[in-house]
Amino acid sequence: MLENQVKAKLRGIVGDAYFKDDIETLVTHSYDGTPMLQQLPEGVIYPQNTAQVSAIMKVMSEHQIPLISRGSGTNLCGGTVPVQGGIVMVMHRMNAILEVDMQNLTATVQPGIITKTFIEHIEGLGLFYPPDPSSMAISTIGGNIAECSGGLRGLKYGTTKDYVIGLECVLASGEIMRTGGKLMKDVAGYDLTKLLIGSEGTLAVITEATLKLIPPPKHKKTMLAMFKDMYGAARTVSAIIENRIIPATLEFMDNPTIRVVNDFAKLGLPLDMEAILLIEQDGEFETVERDIARISEICQEEHADQISIASNQEEALKLLTARRSAFTALARLRPTTILEDATVPRSKIAEMVQQINRIAKKYDVQICTFGHAGDGNLHPTATTDARNHDEIERVEAAFEEIFEEAIRLGGTITGEHGVGLVKAPFLEWKVGSAGIAIMKNIKQGFDPLNILNPGKMFAKESRRRVVIDHV
Ligand SMILES: Cc1cc2nc3c(=O)[nH]c(=O)nc-3n(C[C@H](O)[C@H](O)[C@H](O)COP(=O)(O)OP(=O)(O)OC[C@H]3O[C@@H](n4cnc5c(N)ncnc54)[C@H](O)[C@@H]3O)c2cc1C
Repeated sequence: MLENQVKAKLRGIVGDAYFKDDIETLVTHSYDGTPMLQQLPEGVIYPQNTAQVSAIMKVMSEHQIPLISRGSGTNLCGGTVPVQGGIVMVMHRMNAILEVDMQNLTATVQPGIITKTFIEHIEGLGLFYPPDPSSMAISTIGGNIAECSGGLRGLKYGTTKDYVIGLECVLASGEIMRTGGKLMKDVAGYDLTKLLIGSEGTLAVITEATLKLIPPPKHKKTMLAMFKDMYGAARTVSAIIENRIIPATLEFMDNPTIRVVNDFAKLGLPLDMEAILLIEQDGEFETVERDIARISEICQEEHADQISIASNQEEALKLLTARRSAFTALARLRPTTILEDATVPRSKIAEMVQQINRIAKKYDVQICTFGHAGDGNLHPTATTDARNHDEIERVEAAFEEIFEEAIRLGGTITGEHGVGLVKAPFLEWKVGSAGIAIMKNIKQGFDPLNILNPGKMFAKESRRRVVIDHV
């Protein structure tokens, strides 16, 4: 329980209206986008500026109280569940676009801005910010940075880490630190900007970010290629890249996902296909036309059953929306949807999908797979029911085997959703014991009292397994 003296200090910093400890507020901040995880915080605080965040951190440090930074709570790794109690700090009031610098092509924003609001603002100015997580209508830029979120445009344009060039953050001690800046080159010491990206609120609170912007593509074309043979689809992905074409989007849906998405979005997709690729190219008019023509040829060479090219922007948007809504569509099937994030080298996609299907059968669970084929980033998604304990245990065992399989194929336990609570027991599989030791030392350096999002990233015990080394 928070002492009254601490509550008074926190209210003194943000004002009575912006520190809450009523049961409704505590319950609504006890969980996030991850199913089946819940723990009540002891209070919820809504700072308005960096000075307030700094003052809050000083109180947290003095009283050794955990602090969990929170954007919109859409993460899928239990990243904002206050497993050790403490205060949840919601960043939504810090949502200003502080500057768009047209000469340097940068934007400086506060972390609580909704990603889509920011993207729309930037596009309105004739510029482009490519990271586009499917959750962008609700997620925040701060959450995107802390998770290093990816999206449908990741293959060609990279992910959040490729666009964050400067940060302001508040350390556990309450000190304010700046990293990077409006610089395209900066090798002054260790790259603390990159270290903070993907640090999941465990190293510092991000209070401001400077983002790189680029000119928007002039032309776009979207197509679907449908395959009765999974390997044909997978070979197509490799062949496109081998032909030195990097599409803006190269997405994959397996048969169970096609069925559900079709039912949801009423697209009239053929239901007897093993896999559908959604492909988009953007750039100069001639390049886009040439690439789409060559991609169509490659699809034919790999025996695509049907190829359809969107004839206008509206049709293209419908196709992209269908892929973006895969999670929502699957979530309608059963009460609990567990969306996972195993990633393999893209040459191993077909093998990975087959292994996922084998594992789902072995454990008698329903798993649909979709994802970013171009990145090898697959989202095997279990539709299940948290009340069915026996089934949930089988789902967990199936996912454990799926992560093991991903590592065996040279992949990783998470491509974009982060480690948080859910993947913590598996982190050592990927980074080895030396990697864990270095990461723990970094954590200790930033947060010696372990008050920033404690219990995340590092599990008390790793799942026992020999770590596989990859060359
Ligand atoms: C339907 C759906 C689709 C999704 N699609 C994608 C996708 O395509 N790609 C993808 O990568 N992810 C996706 N996600 C996952 C999620 O949306 C992302 O991880 C997103 O970046 C989280 O943003 P948020 O604002 O909700 O952050 P939260 O969930 O609130 O927080 C995420 C993490 O960031 C930390 N954090 C938040 N703000 C700060 C801050 N200011 N300073 C320090 N740490 C902070 C938190 O402590 C936590 O560890 C999806 C989720 C859903 C529900």
